[in-house]
Amino acid sequence: MASPQQVKEYLACWLQLGKPIRVGLQQEPRQVERVIQGDQYSPEFEALWRYIRSPESGDCYLEGMDPTIAELLSDRWEILECARCQMPTYLPSAGIASPLCPCHDLGNWPNNELPQPRAPVDSAGRLWSIHERLTSSL
Ligand SMILES: [Zn+2]
Repeated sequence: MASPQQVKEYLACWLQLGKPIRVGLQQEPRQVERVIQGDQYSPEFEALWRYIRSPESGDCYLEGMDPTIAELLSDRWEILECARCQMPTYLPSAGIASPLCPCHDLGNWPNNELPQPRAPVDSAGRLWSIHERLTSSL
């Protein structure tokens, strides 16, 4: 089962490659110019992620990909690494379907000359969990 963190990373990595995301009933696919800022996700990306997870966003999915983000967050999907491009992709938990990586329709990927998209160093998340541990023991 995919954790929200994995799904977020999947989204972040593909947005960094310029893959647009379809958000609910909005006509135009969205792109996020800056996904990573320093060692964390950018405020734009965090805002988009919060919106995607809110009930009013409707169906959101990476352009051309089948499962919605909400479906990926259910227990029916796993996030794993694509054998071809080492980017996060998805696989049905209970299926034998071959994974269809978002790289299948990106003509310029994999590309060894471009830096591999990444997830930020999660120092804020680590600090937060320390903070929560400390406050919950009071
Ligand atoms: Zn791939």
